[in-house]
Amino acid sequence: MLLDQQYLFAPGPTPIPDRVKIAMNQPMIAHRSPEFPSLLEDVSTRLMPVFGSENPVTVLAGSGTSALETAAVNVIEENDEVVVIVAGAFGDRFASICETFGANVHRLNIEWGKTCKPEQLEDFLKSLQKEIKAVFATYCETSTGVLNPIKDLGKVVKRVTNALYIVDGVSCIGAVPVDMKGWNIDILVAGSQKALMLPPGLAFIAINDEAREVIRNCKAKRFYLDLNRYLASYENERSTPFTPAVSLIFGAQEVCNMFEEEGFEQVIKRHQLLKEMVREGLKAIEVPLLTSDEDASPTVTAVRTIDEPAKQIKKVLKDKFAITLGGGQKKLKGEIFRIGHMGYCTPFDVIKVLGSIEMTLKFLDGKDVLGTAVKRAEEVWIEHV
Ligand SMILES: *Cc1c(COP(=O)(O)O)cnc(C)c1O
Repeated sequence: MLLDQQYLFAPGPTPIPDRVKIAMNQPMIAHRSPEFPSLLEDVSTRLMPVFGSENPVTVLAGSGTSALETAAVNVIEENDEVVVIVAGAFGDRFASICETFGANVHRLNIEWGKTCKPEQLEDFLKSLQKEIKAVFATYCETSTGVLNPIKDLGKVVKRVTNALYIVDGVSCIGAVPVDMKGWNIDILVAGSQKALMLPPGLAFIAINDEAREVIRNCKAKRFYLDLNRYLASYENERSTPFTPAVSLIFGAQEVCNMFEEEGFEQVIKRHQLLKEMVREGLKAIEVPLLTSDEDASPTVTAVRTIDEPAKQIKKVLKDKFAITLGGGQKKLKGEIFRIGHMGYCTPFDVIKVLGSIEMTLKFLDGKDVLGTAVKRAEEVWIEHV
Protein backbone atom coordinates (compact mmCIF):
# COMPACT_ATOMS: atom_id res chain seq x y z
CA MET A 1 0.00 0.00 0.00
CA LEU A 2 1.20 3.49 -0.79
CA LEU A 3 1.53 5.08 2.58
CA ASP A 4 3.48 8.05 1.44
CA GLN A 5 0.56 10.31 2.22
CA GLN A 6 -0.02 10.39 5.93
CA TYR A 7 -3.20 11.93 7.27
CA LEU A 8 -2.86 13.88 10.45
CA PHE A 9 -6.04 14.20 12.51
CA ALA A 10 -4.50 14.68 15.93
CA PRO A 11 -5.78 17.67 17.89
CA GLY A 12 -2.38 19.28 17.36
CA PRO A 13 -0.01 19.49 15.68
CA THR A 14 -2.15 19.80 12.57
CA PRO A 15 -1.39 19.75 8.81
CA ILE A 16 0.41 22.72 7.27
CA PRO A 17 -0.80 24.22 3.97
CA ASP A 18 1.82 24.06 1.20
CA ARG A 19 1.76 27.81 0.75
CA VAL A 20 2.56 28.28 4.43
CA LYS A 21 5.48 25.84 4.09
CA ILE A 22 6.74 27.84 1.12
CA ALA A 23 6.36 31.12 3.01
CA MET A 24 8.44 29.67 5.85
CA ASN A 25 11.26 28.94 3.40
CA GLN A 26 11.87 32.57 2.55
CA PRO A 27 15.47 33.67 3.05
CA MET A 28 16.23 34.32 6.69
CA ILE A 29 16.19 37.94 7.80
CA ALA A 30 17.89 39.40 10.84
CA HIS A 31 15.48 40.53 13.48
CA ARG A 32 17.45 43.75 13.91
CA SER A 33 17.31 44.42 10.15
CA PRO A 34 14.90 46.95 8.65
CA GLU A 35 12.70 44.16 7.20
CA PHE A 36 11.66 42.56 10.46
CA PRO A 37 9.59 45.37 12.05
CA SER A 38 7.14 45.50 9.17
CA LEU A 39 6.76 41.70 9.21
CA LEU A 40 6.06 41.63 12.94
CA GLU A 41 3.69 44.56 12.82
CA ASP A 42 1.84 43.01 9.89
CA VAL A 43 1.30 39.71 11.71
CA SER A 44 0.56 41.24 15.12
CA THR A 45 -2.10 43.55 13.71
CA ARG A 46 -3.67 41.17 11.19
CA LEU A 47 -4.16 38.62 13.96
CA MET A 48 -6.24 41.11 15.97
CA PRO A 49 -9.58 40.07 14.43
CA VAL A 50 -8.70 36.40 14.90
CA PHE A 51 -8.12 37.04 18.62
CA GLY A 52 -10.96 39.57 18.88
CA SER A 53 -8.34 41.88 20.35
CA GLU A 54 -8.16 45.67 20.33
CA ASN A 55 -4.38 45.57 20.72
CA PRO A 56 -1.74 43.97 18.51
CA VAL A 57 -1.10 40.34 19.42
CA THR A 58 2.21 39.61 21.16
CA VAL A 59 4.28 36.83 19.59
CA LEU A 60 6.78 34.68 21.52
CA ALA A 61 8.91 31.70 20.55
CA GLY A 62 7.61 28.78 22.58
CA SER A 63 4.92 26.10 22.61
CA GLY A 64 1.37 26.67 23.81
CA THR A 65 2.33 25.95 27.39
CA SER A 66 4.78 28.86 27.29
CA ALA A 67 1.80 31.06 26.45
CA LEU A 68 -0.06 29.72 29.50
CA GLU A 69 3.00 30.22 31.68
CA THR A 70 3.45 33.74 30.33
CA ALA A 71 -0.13 34.60 31.23
CA ALA A 72 0.37 33.26 34.76
CA VAL A 73 3.81 34.56 35.57
CA ASN A 74 3.06 38.13 34.49
CA VAL A 75 0.01 38.39 36.72
CA ILE A 76 0.46 36.15 39.75
CA GLU A 77 2.39 37.10 42.84
CA GLU A 78 3.04 34.76 45.76
CA ASN A 79 -0.16 33.91 47.68
CA ASP A 80 -2.53 35.55 45.22
CA GLU A 81 -5.93 33.92 45.24
CA VAL A 82 -6.83 32.60 41.81
CA VAL A 83 -9.59 30.42 40.40
CA VAL A 84 -8.98 27.87 37.66
CA ILE A 85 -11.80 26.08 35.87
CA VAL A 86 -10.62 22.49 35.46
CA ALA A 87 -12.70 20.53 32.96
CA GLY A 88 -9.87 18.35 31.67
CA ALA A 89 -6.12 17.97 31.25
CA PHE A 90 -5.45 21.51 30.06
CA GLY A 91 -7.42 23.19 32.83
CA ASP A 92 -5.41 20.96 35.15
CA ARG A 93 -2.20 22.18 33.53
CA PHE A 94 -3.23 25.83 33.94
CA ALA A 95 -3.88 25.14 37.63
CA SER A 96 -0.50 23.42 38.06
CA ILE A 97 1.28 26.36 36.46
CA CYS A 98 -0.47 28.79 38.83
CA GLU A 99 0.48 26.59 41.80
CA THR A 100 4.09 26.51 40.64
CA PHE A 101 4.25 30.28 40.87
CA GLY A 102 2.90 30.37 44.39
CA ALA A 103 -0.76 31.20 43.90
CA ASN A 104 -3.47 29.86 46.19
CA VAL A 105 -5.34 28.02 43.51
CA HIS A 106 -9.04 27.30 43.88
CA ARG A 107 -9.92 24.62 41.36
CA LEU A 108 -13.46 24.51 40.09
CA ASN A 109 -13.60 20.87 39.02
CA ILE A 110 -16.03 20.08 36.24
CA GLU A 111 -16.93 16.56 35.18
CA TRP A 112 -14.68 15.63 32.24
CA GLY A 113 -16.70 15.74 29.04
CA LYS A 114 -18.91 18.59 30.23
CA THR A 115 -18.59 22.37 29.98
CA CYS A 116 -18.53 24.72 32.95
CA LYS A 117 -21.97 26.27 33.34
CA PRO A 118 -22.11 29.96 34.31
CA GLU A 119 -24.16 29.10 37.44
CA GLN A 120 -21.45 26.67 38.56
CA LEU A 121 -18.84 29.42 38.31
CA GLU A 122 -21.09 31.95 40.00
CA ASP A 123 -21.81 29.66 42.97
CA PHE A 124 -18.14 28.75 43.26
CA LEU A 125 -16.90 32.35 43.20
CA LYS A 126 -19.50 33.42 45.76
CA SER A 127 -18.68 30.52 48.06
CA LEU A 128 -15.00 31.46 48.19
CA GLN A 129 -15.40 34.86 49.85
CA LYS A 130 -11.92 35.85 48.74
CA GLU A 131 -10.44 38.71 46.77
CA ILE A 132 -9.67 36.84 43.55
CA LYS A 133 -6.81 38.14 41.39
CA ALA A 134 -7.58 36.14 38.26
CA VAL A 135 -9.96 33.55 36.89
CA PHE A 136 -8.41 31.12 34.37
CA ALA A 137 -10.57 29.28 31.86
CA THR A 138 -9.99 26.99 28.88
CA TYR A 139 -11.97 27.88 25.76
CA CYS A 140 -11.68 24.51 24.03
CA GLU A 141 -10.70 21.81 26.54
CA THR A 142 -8.81 19.69 24.02
CA SER A 143 -8.63 16.61 26.23
CA THR A 144 -12.42 16.16 26.19
CA GLY A 145 -13.46 18.19 23.14
CA VAL A 146 -15.75 20.65 24.89
CA LEU A 147 -16.03 24.35 24.11
CA ASN A 148 -16.64 26.29 27.31
CA PRO A 149 -19.14 29.18 27.18
CA ILE A 150 -16.40 31.78 27.52
CA LYS A 151 -18.68 34.75 26.89
CA ASP A 152 -21.20 33.80 29.59
CA LEU A 153 -18.48 32.81 32.05
CA GLY A 154 -16.86 36.21 31.47
CA LYS A 155 -20.07 37.97 32.47
CA VAL A 156 -20.06 36.06 35.76
CA VAL A 157 -16.39 36.82 36.43
CA LYS A 158 -16.94 40.55 36.09
CA ARG A 159 -20.25 40.60 37.97
CA VAL A 160 -18.99 38.68 40.99
CA THR A 161 -15.29 39.64 41.20
CA ASN A 162 -12.72 42.29 40.28
CA ALA A 163 -10.51 39.56 38.85
CA LEU A 164 -8.76 39.43 35.51
CA TYR A 165 -10.29 36.91 33.14
CA ILE A 166 -7.59 34.86 31.43
CA VAL A 167 -8.46 32.41 28.68
CA ASP A 168 -6.53 29.53 27.10
CA GLY A 169 -7.60 29.46 23.46
CA VAL A 170 -4.76 27.24 22.25
CA SER A 171 -6.89 24.64 20.49
CA CYS A 172 -9.60 26.82 19.00
CA ILE A 173 -8.41 30.36 18.26
CA GLY A 174 -8.39 30.57 14.47
CA ALA A 175 -11.58 28.48 14.23
CA VAL A 176 -14.10 30.10 16.57
CA PRO A 177 -15.51 33.56 17.26
CA VAL A 178 -14.05 35.59 20.10
CA ASP A 179 -14.45 39.18 21.23
CA MET A 180 -12.17 40.15 24.10
CA LYS A 181 -13.93 43.40 24.89
CA GLY A 182 -17.48 42.14 24.44
CA TRP A 183 -16.74 38.96 26.38
CA ASN A 184 -14.71 40.58 29.18
CA ILE A 185 -11.50 38.68 28.39
CA ASP A 186 -8.37 40.41 29.68
CA ILE A 187 -5.74 37.98 28.40
CA LEU A 188 -6.20 35.44 25.61
CA VAL A 189 -3.46 32.99 24.67
CA ALA A 190 -2.98 30.59 21.77
CA GLY A 191 -0.33 28.39 20.21
CA SER A 192 0.62 28.00 16.58
CA GLN A 193 0.12 24.28 15.95
CA LYS A 194 -3.63 23.80 16.36
CA ALA A 195 -6.21 25.85 14.46
CA LEU A 196 -3.64 28.37 13.22
CA MET A 197 -2.21 26.02 10.56
CA LEU A 198 1.41 26.49 11.63
CA PRO A 199 4.08 24.17 13.01
CA PRO A 200 4.61 24.15 16.78
CA GLY A 201 6.79 26.94 18.11
CA LEU A 202 4.88 30.20 18.38
CA ALA A 203 2.95 31.40 21.40
CA PHE A 204 0.45 34.22 20.97
CA ILE A 205 -0.80 36.48 23.73
CA ALA A 206 -3.47 39.15 23.37
CA ILE A 207 -3.70 41.60 26.25
CA ASN A 208 -6.17 44.40 26.97
CA ASP A 209 -5.23 47.67 28.64
CA GLU A 210 -6.45 46.64 32.08
CA ALA A 211 -4.32 43.49 32.07
CA ARG A 212 -1.41 45.53 30.83
CA GLU A 213 -1.56 47.69 33.90
CA VAL A 214 -1.55 44.61 36.16
CA ILE A 215 1.39 43.16 34.21
CA ARG A 216 3.31 46.42 34.53
CA ASN A 217 2.86 46.39 38.30
CA CYS A 218 3.38 42.67 38.85
CA LYS A 219 6.43 42.07 41.04
CA ALA A 220 6.90 38.39 40.26
CA LYS A 221 10.32 37.40 38.92
CA ARG A 222 10.49 36.48 35.25
CA PHE A 223 12.93 37.02 32.43
CA TYR A 224 12.30 35.34 29.05
CA LEU A 225 8.54 35.41 29.59
CA ASP A 226 8.40 38.97 30.92
CA LEU A 227 5.66 40.58 28.83
CA ASN A 228 6.88 44.06 29.72
CA ARG A 229 9.98 43.40 27.65
CA TYR A 230 7.92 42.19 24.66
CA LEU A 231 5.48 45.08 24.86
CA ALA A 232 8.26 47.68 25.15
CA SER A 233 10.20 46.13 22.29
CA TYR A 234 7.10 46.11 20.10
CA GLU A 235 6.21 49.66 20.96
CA ASN A 236 9.69 51.10 20.56
CA GLU A 237 11.04 49.21 17.58
CA ARG A 238 8.37 46.76 16.35
CA SER A 239 10.65 43.96 17.40
CA THR A 240 11.06 41.31 20.08
CA PRO A 241 13.47 41.35 23.03
CA PHE A 242 14.98 37.98 22.06
CA THR A 243 15.49 36.26 18.71
CA PRO A 244 12.03 35.55 17.31
CA ALA A 245 11.09 32.40 15.38
CA VAL A 246 11.38 34.36 12.13
CA SER A 247 10.41 31.52 9.76
CA LEU A 248 7.27 30.77 11.74
CA ILE A 249 6.34 34.44 11.67
CA PHE A 250 6.68 34.37 7.87
CA GLY A 251 4.33 31.39 8.00
CA ALA A 252 1.91 33.30 10.22
CA GLN A 253 1.82 36.08 7.64
CA GLU A 254 0.71 33.58 4.99
CA VAL A 255 -1.91 32.21 7.40
CA CYS A 256 -3.28 35.77 7.71
CA ASN A 257 -3.49 35.89 3.89
CA MET A 258 -5.42 32.62 3.89
CA PHE A 259 -7.85 33.76 6.62
CA GLU A 260 -8.50 36.98 4.73
CA GLU A 261 -9.01 35.20 1.40
CA GLU A 262 -11.47 32.69 2.81
CA GLY A 263 -13.01 35.31 5.10
CA PHE A 264 -12.75 34.68 8.82
CA GLU A 265 -16.54 34.32 9.14
CA GLN A 266 -16.32 31.53 6.58
CA VAL A 267 -13.42 29.90 8.43
CA ILE A 268 -15.66 29.73 11.51
CA LYS A 269 -18.55 28.29 9.47
CA ARG A 270 -16.28 25.68 7.90
CA HIS A 271 -15.32 24.42 11.36
CA GLN A 272 -18.99 24.22 12.36
CA LEU A 273 -19.60 22.10 9.29
CA LEU A 274 -16.64 19.83 10.04
CA LYS A 275 -17.94 19.30 13.57
CA GLU A 276 -21.43 18.49 12.37
CA MET A 277 -20.18 16.07 9.71
CA VAL A 278 -17.95 14.20 12.17
CA ARG A 279 -20.63 13.94 14.84
CA GLU A 280 -23.51 13.02 12.57
CA GLY A 281 -21.36 10.48 10.74
CA LEU A 282 -20.25 8.79 13.96
CA LYS A 283 -23.79 8.79 15.36
CA ALA A 284 -24.97 7.05 12.19
CA ILE A 285 -22.68 4.11 12.98
CA GLU A 286 -23.50 4.21 16.68
CA VAL A 287 -20.06 5.17 17.83
CA PRO A 288 -20.62 6.88 21.19
CA LEU A 289 -19.44 10.46 21.59
CA LEU A 290 -18.06 11.81 24.85
CA THR A 291 -19.77 15.19 24.64
CA SER A 292 -23.21 16.56 23.80
CA ASP A 293 -23.72 18.45 20.51
CA GLU A 294 -24.21 21.60 22.52
CA ASP A 295 -21.01 21.30 24.57
CA ALA A 296 -18.84 20.03 21.71
CA SER A 297 -16.02 22.04 20.17
CA PRO A 298 -15.90 22.63 16.41
CA THR A 299 -12.19 21.73 16.47
CA VAL A 300 -11.95 18.32 18.15
CA THR A 301 -14.29 15.38 18.76
CA ALA A 302 -13.77 12.84 21.52
CA VAL A 303 -15.09 9.36 20.86
CA ARG A 304 -15.75 6.75 23.50
CA THR A 305 -14.64 3.24 22.76
CA ILE A 306 -16.67 0.39 24.18
CA ASP A 307 -15.90 -2.80 22.30
CA GLU A 308 -12.34 -2.21 21.15
CA PRO A 309 -9.65 -0.50 23.17
CA ALA A 310 -8.82 2.98 21.86
CA LYS A 311 -5.22 1.93 21.39
CA GLN A 312 -6.22 -0.88 19.04
CA ILE A 313 -8.45 1.37 16.93
CA LYS A 314 -5.72 3.99 16.72
CA LYS A 315 -3.17 1.37 15.72
CA VAL A 316 -5.28 -0.05 12.87
CA LEU A 317 -6.09 3.43 11.62
CA LYS A 318 -2.41 4.25 11.57
CA ASP A 319 -1.05 0.97 10.20
CA LYS A 320 -3.71 0.25 7.57
CA PHE A 321 -4.95 3.68 6.59
CA ALA A 322 -2.13 6.08 7.54
CA ILE A 323 -4.49 8.08 9.74
CA THR A 324 -3.19 9.59 12.96
CA LEU A 325 -5.70 10.41 15.70
CA GLY A 326 -5.19 11.57 19.27
CA GLY A 327 -5.61 9.33 22.28
CA GLY A 328 -7.10 10.02 25.70
CA GLN A 329 -5.17 12.01 28.27
CA LYS A 330 -4.85 11.47 32.02
CA LYS A 331 -8.03 9.89 33.40
CA LEU A 332 -9.47 9.39 29.91
CA LYS A 333 -6.43 7.46 28.72
CA GLY A 334 -7.57 4.29 26.98
CA GLU A 335 -11.22 5.31 27.18
CA ILE A 336 -11.44 7.70 24.27
CA PHE A 337 -9.76 8.65 21.07
CA ARG A 338 -9.89 12.15 19.65
CA ILE A 339 -10.29 13.39 16.10
CA GLY A 340 -8.79 16.81 15.44
CA HIS A 341 -10.60 18.70 12.68
CA MET A 342 -9.14 22.15 12.86
CA GLY A 343 -7.03 24.50 10.79
CA TYR A 344 -6.12 23.12 7.37
CA CYS A 345 -9.05 20.71 7.25
CA THR A 346 -11.86 20.36 4.71
CA PRO A 347 -15.08 18.36 4.48
CA PHE A 348 -13.23 15.91 2.22
CA ASP A 349 -10.81 15.23 5.04
CA VAL A 350 -13.75 14.32 7.28
CA ILE A 351 -14.98 11.85 4.65
CA LYS A 352 -11.50 10.29 4.71
CA VAL A 353 -11.39 9.85 8.45
CA LEU A 354 -14.97 8.55 8.72
CA GLY A 355 -14.40 6.05 5.90
CA SER A 356 -11.29 4.78 7.63
CA ILE A 357 -13.14 4.37 10.93
CA GLU A 358 -15.83 2.36 9.16
CA MET A 359 -13.20 0.09 7.65
CA THR A 360 -11.37 -0.22 10.95
CA LEU A 361 -14.56 -1.38 12.69
CA LYS A 362 -15.09 -3.95 9.93
CA PHE A 363 -11.50 -5.08 10.24
CA LEU A 364 -11.60 -5.40 14.04
CA ASP A 365 -15.17 -6.52 14.78
CA GLY A 366 -16.58 -7.54 11.44
CA LYS A 367 -19.14 -4.79 12.07
CA ASP A 368 -20.44 -3.85 8.62
CA VAL A 369 -21.17 -0.14 8.54
CA LEU A 370 -19.29 0.56 5.34
CA GLY A 371 -20.50 3.77 3.73
CA THR A 372 -22.94 4.61 6.51
CA ALA A 373 -21.02 7.34 8.33
CA VAL A 374 -19.72 8.70 5.05
CA LYS A 375 -23.24 8.87 3.62
CA ARG A 376 -24.55 10.73 6.63
CA ALA A 377 -21.62 13.17 6.53
CA GLU A 378 -22.23 13.80 2.84
CA GLU A 379 -25.90 14.52 3.59
CA VAL A 380 -24.78 17.15 6.11
CA TRP A 381 -22.23 18.61 3.74
CA ILE A 382 -24.54 18.88 0.74
CA GLU A 383 -26.91 21.00 2.82
CA HIS A 384 -24.16 23.61 3.01
CA VAL A 385 -22.85 23.73 -0.56
C1 LIG B 1 -2.17 21.96 23.03
C2 LIG B 1 -2.72 22.75 24.16
C3 LIG B 1 -1.90 23.41 25.10
C4 LIG B 1 -0.42 23.23 25.20
O1 LIG B 1 0.29 23.42 24.11
P1 LIG B 1 1.77 22.86 23.90
O2 LIG B 1 2.05 23.49 22.60
O3 LIG B 1 1.72 21.38 23.88
O4 LIG B 1 2.62 23.39 24.98
C5 LIG B 1 -2.50 24.20 26.05
N1 LIG B 1 -3.82 24.33 26.14
C6 LIG B 1 -4.65 23.70 25.28
C7 LIG B 1 -6.11 23.89 25.42
C8 LIG B 1 -4.12 22.90 24.27
O5 LIG B 1 -4.93 22.26 23.43
